Amino acid sequence: MKVIEHIDKAGKNPLFSFEIVPPPRGRNVQDIIDIVEGLKPYNPSWVDVTAHSAGAYYNERSDGSIERRIYRKRPGTIGICGIIQNRFCIDTVTHLLTQGFTKEETEDALIELNYLGIHNVLALRGDGLNYSKQISKDRSVNTYAIDLVSQINDIKHGKFLNDITNSRPLDFCVGVAGYPEKHFEAPNLKMDVHWLKKKVEAGAEYIVTQMFFDTKKYCDFVTLCRSEGITVPIVPGLKVIKNIKQLTTIPSNFYVDLPDELVDEISSNPNHVEEIGVNWAIKQCDELLKFGVPSLHFYVMNDTKSVKDVVKKFF
Ligand code: FAD
Repeated sequence: MKVIEHIDKAGKNPLFSFEIVPPPRGRNVQDIIDIVEGLKPYNPSWVDVTAHSAGAYYNERSDGSIERRIYRKRPGTIGICGIIQNRFCIDTVTHLLTQGFTKEETEDALIELNYLGIHNVLALRGDGLNYSKQISKDRSVNTYAIDLVSQINDIKHGKFLNDITNSRPLDFCVGVAGYPEKHFEAPNLKMDVHWLKKKVEAGAEYIVTQMFFDTKKYCDFVTLCRSEGITVPIVPGLKVIKNIKQLTTIPSNFYVDLPDELVDEISSNPNHVEEIGVNWAIKQCDELLKFGVPSLHFYVMNDTKSVKDVVKKFF
């Protein structure tokens, strides 16, 4: 089923979904299977699998010279979606990026997803490459996420990059990212929401938010989106804090604020961070459910214990 069908069918009963990251190159997919098995008993409606573009990595050889290699640290997004969807019968959402991928590669990925029976994608830009990728003249690229949404929308109408006689439309439900505390590059929230609306007008059927720790910011964001005419579901993204290091890594990696109350509590009880993180997330879920969210989406990454402690209270 598509994400939007899950949401429509659920009506007033909120859903739960989660997001995982493919293992680093050279590691085993069993870690991912264990995560899915651990959360399956709580009936997730869908699982997102993140995408990763290639990066440049530097290695010092024994003679002191530096070797540069370009590769994807975490390949396997589509394969993992195929395993989860076809082995566990849980719908998956494949993340697709504009950065690091040509339109031709994107089209191939969409064809592959269609063969696997995967009909949900989250269209994203990505965070910039740390090398300059040479694109040959016979290839083309998407820049912003909106360009990717448009490409997928074309394929939904049977319009492939090159004219193909008797081409069949491929059916996808497209989600996009939204930022309650604004995207870090946007001059202000108003401008960011302006571009978000354009993504919806280009064909996005739902929005998933960046993580936030102050529920009011999500509620205000939804109110702003609605007043700007964005009517699609806005799924809140949640992260359960697990260790004290995250007080600095979360703001620097995701450009979000942590409320004073949460920071004070963690700083004065450094041996109880897991418990504080779980209780904070439970409080947020309570507030969000009262606000009437369609679904709760958890950024699990590779840790299920704390997410389990939260979802078992609600699902
Ligand atoms: P866009 O929507 O393209 O927006 C980027 C910036 O440009 C914004 O400031 C926006 O206001 C502005 N903008 C948008 N369109 C235009 C336009 N046409 N003209 C001018 N300005 C414009 N990253 C990964 O690498 N892999 C993942 O799997 C992944 N999953 C994510 C999941 C979620 C739910 C979220 C919230 C983020 C995820 N990210 C992921 C991170 C994401 O790629 C970054 O936040 C990235 O910097 C922006 O992506 P976007 O799709 O929001 O970009």
